[in-house]
Amino acid sequence: MDKKGAILLISGPSGSGKSSLCKELFNNIESIYFSISTTTREIREGEVDGKHYYFVSKESFLEDIEDDKFLEWAEVHGNLYGTSKKSVLEALESGKLVVFDIDVQGFINISKQFGKYLTSVFITTPSKETLKKRLHNRGTDNKDTIDRRVKHALEEMKFVGRYDYLLINDNFEKSSRDLISIARSAMLKTSTYDIEDFSKRWDF
Ligand code: 5GP
Repeated sequence: MDKKGAILLISGPSGSGKSSLCKELFNNIESIYFSISTTTREIREGEVDGKHYYFVSKESFLEDIEDDKFLEWAEVHGNLYGTSKKSVLEALESGKLVVFDIDVQGFINISKQFGKYLTSVFITTPSKETLKKRLHNRGTDNKDTIDRRVKHALEEMKFVGRYDYLLINDNFEKSSRDLISIARSAMLKTSTYDIEDFSKRWDF
C-alpha cells in the first residue's frame, strides 16, 4: 500500500546535542530526508555549503521569499533561515521521513501548515548551567555569543509544552535510542497511510 511521508520536527538550543542526535537518526532510519535550510549567516569552520545549509546572501534570500520558495522562514540570532518548499514536498510525497531542525518560530509555522503530518520534539540539556558549560567547552563561540544563545534558549523553552516530546539529553546513548523510537512511531501514524485506498481494499 502507498504510504505518505511524515515530518519529524526537532527544535532545541545549540549545545543541546541536537546535531549529533540527528546524525544518529540518519544512520538508523531508512527513507529519511534531512531538510537543508537556506541561511544568510556566515559559514562556520567545518561546515559545507549544500550539506549543512545553503549559504546565500541576504539579497538572494529576499528574492527567494518573493518567489515563494520557502515553506517558512524566520530571523534567528540576527540571520535569516528558511525551509525550502520543493524538496520537502517531494520527499513527503515519496513516503520519506522528513526531518527539520528549526527554531520555535518555524515550529509554530509548520504546525499550522502540516499539523497532520507532524511529530515534534524539543531537545535540551537538564539545566541552563549545563547548556552554558557545553557551549563553553565546544569552544566555537565567545562569551557574548554564548550569553546570547542561552538567553535565546530561555525564550524558546517557554514553548516546550507545545511539543509532542521532550528529550532531556543527559545521556547521549539513551537520548539517541529515544529519538529513534520517536522517529519510528512518526512513520507509523495513521496520517501516513492512504485511508481511502485502505478502505477500498477492506470494503468499509
Ligand atoms: P545555527 O546557526 O546554530 O545553525 O542555527 C540557529 C538556529 O536556527 C537553530 O535553532 C536552528 O534550529 C534554527 N534554524 C535552522 N534552519 C532553520 C529554518 O529553516 N527555519 C527556522 N525557522 N529556523 C531554522
